[in-house]
Amino acid sequence: MPTSAHQCESADVTSPATVTPGPVPDPAGLLRRWRSAGQLPRQAGEARSVPDGGWPDPVTHVERLPARPGTTAPWPGWVPDQLRDALAGRGVREPWQHQAYAAELAHGGRHVVVATGTGSGKSLAYLLPALSTLLADPRATVLYLAPTKALAADQFRAVTGLGLDGVRPACYDGDTPQAERAWIRQHARFVLTNPDMLHRGILPGHNAWSHFLRRLTYVIVDECHSYRGVFGSHVAHVLRRLRRQTERYHRARPGGPAGPVFILASATSGEPARAARQLTGLPVEPVTEDSAPRGAVTFALWEPPLLPGARADTEDLTPVRRSALRESADLLADAVAAGVRTLAFVRSRRGAEVVASTARRALEEVVPGLGTRVAAYRAGFLAEERRALERSLVHGDLLGLASTNALELGVDLVGLDAVLICGYPGTRASLWQQAGRAGRAGREALAVLIARDDPLDTYLVHHPEAVFGRPVEATVLDPTNPYVLGPQLCCAAAEGALTTADVELFGGAVVKQTLDELVAAGLLRRRPTGWYWTAPGRPDVDLRGEGGAPINVVEAATGRLLGTVDPGSSHFLVHPGAVYLHQGVSYVVDDLDLEGACALVHAEEPEWSTHAREVTSLDVVSVREYQDAGPVGLFVGDVDVTSQVVSYQRRRIGSGEVLDTRPLDLPARQLRTVAVWFTVSPASLTAAGVDPAEVPGALHAAEHAAIGLLPLVATCDRWDIGGLSTASHADTEAPTVFVYDGHPGGAGFAERAYQAARTWLGATRDLIAACGCDTGCPSCVQSPKCGNGNNPLGKADAVRVLDVVLTNLPEPTNAAETMADPAANSG
Ligand SMILES: [Zn+2]
Ligand SMILES: [Zn+2]
Repeated sequence: MPTSAHQCESADVTSPATVTPGPVPDPAGLLRRWRSAGQLPRQAGEARSVPDGGWPDPVTHVERLPARPGTTAPWPGWVPDQLRDALAGRGVREPWQHQAYAAELAHGGRHVVVATGTGSGKSLAYLLPALSTLLADPRATVLYLAPTKALAADQFRAVTGLGLDGVRPACYDGDTPQAERAWIRQHARFVLTNPDMLHRGILPGHNAWSHFLRRLTYVIVDECHSYRGVFGSHVAHVLRRLRRQTERYHRARPGGPAGPVFILASATSGEPARAARQLTGLPVEPVTEDSAPRGAVTFALWEPPLLPGARADTEDLTPVRRSALRESADLLADAVAAGVRTLAFVRSRRGAEVVASTARRALEEVVPGLGTRVAAYRAGFLAEERRALERSLVHGDLLGLASTNALELGVDLVGLDAVLICGYPGTRASLWQQAGRAGRAGREALAVLIARDDPLDTYLVHHPEAVFGRPVEATVLDPTNPYVLGPQLCCAAAEGALTTADVELFGGAVVKQTLDELVAAGLLRRRPTGWYWTAPGRPDVDLRGEGGAPINVVEAATGRLLGTVDPGSSHFLVHPGAVYLHQGVSYVVDDLDLEGACALVHAEEPEWSTHAREVTSLDVVSVREYQDAGPVGLFVGDVDVTSQVVSYQRRRIGSGEVLDTRPLDLPARQLRTVAVWFTVSPASLTAAGVDPAEVPGALHAAEHAAIGLLPLVATCDRWDIGGLSTASHADTEAPTVFVYDGHPGGAGFAERAYQAARTWLGATRDLIAACGCDTGCPSCVQSPKCGNGNNPLGKADAVRVLDVVLTNLPEPTNAAETMADPAANSG
């Protein structure tokens, strides 16, 4: 099937913006050049530190992803001519097979999730049935949900651009003027919004939306993989509340369908149907076969070299490798100089700016003027700014772009020559989404993952099978989290008394129990006809909140609000004396007012950074499940974590030298959450050669590395989880390592770790054993968030501890672990 010129070349609803072929660059040749020792572009001043024999080959693995031709399908017969013509006008002559298949399923009344790669045109899969229905039935309505306002605005522009009569699309979000809202409720037929607005605006005011909800035919949930963890669990209930209201209004219309059809679009993810079912509570058909064409990609894993003479220092986290940011900046500059259109993904906003400016400077030194062809891109840009940058890159005025993962969400830009990924983005799903920007038909493109100095990155560049040989992660959420369920049931009750029929909708037995607790707490009232919300006003529930109001960071002199910090990390980030960075500008905190939820700061650039220290204790509340494996025990259960930030260190920037440690007077905090933990008998540790005096350091090192590698089996970040290790715990009476969800009530991460314990702890052991450092470094057992200053840490003994665990832990007997790593490959 010919694929060229099938899709149009501007950013629109159906086809991603494709970078037009320019002069023929040779990304594969670039990689060959980079690999030859000593040839790596290096910044001035570093030349004298080139090791004898040049730099070693930084590439640890090369994977070739073959090209794939596209397969189209005929238009479904029910697509009206008007829509077909409008799409043809945008360059779409026929849908790809997966688009047509998903559209057919939805049109036939089946709930469907499309989980295919970047740039595969998922939007056409939902727009075909949605727009066809709006054209065929002048009273039907469609609701579109995006995780961000910006993405909804993009889709709004795309649908408007098709110029279809009578579809009347409208964005309904926090920015929508009051004057327009009534019109939208009464007349708009394609409403684009986000879960927060659905939760706070539309559902509480469902009476005013009755006209819209009564005719609601499709609910589109775009980028549904972003609904994970606690936020995802909240959204799952918001969607159930939506189902409840629409079913109510649909019943008022005899003969109509029982409820709307859900169409979900997801990045490639593990078990998308299961995640979609958890999210909606409905049976959902998966469409995962990607039939869009793809160019061949050479994918390299890259580990920056050790700095000559560097030694890891357990106390100071001194870097021992060249930083991934510098490495990425150099590669970006070199690629741009070679005319290779390159996108660099950097995790932080500041990092993206550093990469862009470093590359610009390097290029200016070579060819004055060339630096202007590199730019930075981040979240928070206005739509026009984003569009201008995308256009420049598509047209080739711009050759290099350093971006935060803002570009991962909702911008259709594919067909680049090279993608540099500075640091593992946290999940294989994101990795593939970012790498998927590279590759155009008929030409080989390049993707490079550049490892940062941390356990997960280091593990991955040395275990390519963990990147290429595995399916992407399943999206983890837990709608039964009591801290989500309780508040959501209150919201639902405030929208209409809950009946016994609703108990099933919201989750069954656990709902019944939670309702009893809410009644006992006086939040709901039980009457013969159901459960009622009787308090004045509505429950105040924030979908993205962590319990408690966010702390406002305010510049004292001007009263300017710089940003917010969630209450969970405020003690760490904005304690009195803390150095707080905001958009690259340095501030020092004068005062943290916890009751007023406000931190007062002033602009100052001191010569030190600050590092808070925390003491943590943990009590086991109950054990949900466990495995008794002789000297080893593996558990998952509910725990109470008490933590207190007690002091902070000031360290000189650059050298890491500790200037002093200052005490802090902050209250202790309580967290009821879910933990996974393992115990090891002291006798088995002694037998394995761990001296009793070394047990604390061994467990602590194992704990750090295990936290670093948990994202391997669950869609979390190491900042989502915490840990505690001890040579003897009052509740377990044994040496124990705990790893817990950092969210009240748990977010499903610890549960997942328990199910995939062998995979998780096996990878942890291998990582520590394989690290080339002597006594532990940030790539293996040191943690950037350790409350004890990374002390004590026993690297070699940590391997012995994990060997004892892995030797005794039985192979999984149920499907749990195989479920975490199904044999099927994707991506
Ligand atoms: Zn190491
Ligand atoms: Zn620690």
